Amino acid sequence: MTNHTLPSLLVLMLIAGCSKNGGQAPATGTPPEAGKTPAAEAHAPVSTAPRPSFRGDNAFAFLTAQTAFGPRNPGSAGHRECLAYLVSALRPLADDVRLQEFTHNGYGGEQLRLTNVIASYRPADRTRILLCAHWDTRPRADQDETRSKRNDPILGANDGASGVAVLLELASMLKKSPPPVGVDIVLLDGEDYGKEGDHASYLLGSRYFAEHKAEDYLPRFGILLDMVGDKFLDLPREQYSVRYAPDVVDMVWKTAAYLGVTQFHDEKGEEIMDDHLPLNEAGIQTIDIIDFNYPDNTNRYWHTHQDTPEHCSAESLGAVGSVLAAVVYAQVP
Ligand SMILES: [Zn+2]
Repeated sequence: MTNHTLPSLLVLMLIAGCSKNGGQAPATGTPPEAGKTPAAEAHAPVSTAPRPSFRGDNAFAFLTAQTAFGPRNPGSAGHRECLAYLVSALRPLADDVRLQEFTHNGYGGEQLRLTNVIASYRPADRTRILLCAHWDTRPRADQDETRSKRNDPILGANDGASGVAVLLELASMLKKSPPPVGVDIVLLDGEDYGKEGDHASYLLGSRYFAEHKAEDYLPRFGILLDMVGDKFLDLPREQYSVRYAPDVVDMVWKTAAYLGVTQFHDEKGEEIMDDHLPLNEAGIQTIDIIDFNYPDNTNRYWHTHQDTPEHCSAESLGAVGSVLAAVVYAQVP
């Protein structure tokens, strides 16, 4: 992802359509009630049905399992090996696992072979939700302070592995305790390939997914996780999410408040160009849960060789995973 703003015309259109609700305090402590309308049911904060709890330590093990392959940039050995690992991890955990393979003409004549991994639960259900994260890592540490290392690929513990780690732990929960509605976990490839400023070479997997989805595939909503592993996790409301999917942002942040998960802040965040944009443009209301200030806004490990597991924590993954799990199990068919 990149902290880029959309072309100005689109931004103006988005601003025009934006309701100014970003600063509203969320209602806290509203338990779910039976017999609501489908729309209200979709936004019930928490299900009281028994289910396994989300284990942050398990998620952290899924994070280090990915970084153990080294950088996972397209075309690398780590990319190839990590793909095989993700598929073999998900196959026993999901009802159906599909690979969406595609190619992209990269820099210097490089032909990229990219793969989105789609793990589905209750594949026959029409009511579905979409959960996604990018699994590729950046081919160059262009923000690193050591100039001579800026062309080397990054490990991507937070930028890449963290979101996938949360989704893999959620997948093992969904195996033990099936979700009330259909769930598609989509691990997107090629998010972080582009050189700075070359926006067409970012978001490759989400663009491909959005362009090739069936016309009638319209999940109730989508949630993207990116950079959710920071030890000092701060999650404001990302601004494109607020514009495209304000109700989904409200539901997720209210759920966090209800659960007492303090890493979610009821504050206006930045606009982040990320995989949620192509999905929103394809009609799937999708939010981005992202902490761009990693670890804080004066010191950034983003796109550097400092993006390593010791700067991430099981607690942060657990915070995000517990909110995500509560949202999933609160869905009413
Ligand atoms: Zn990135």
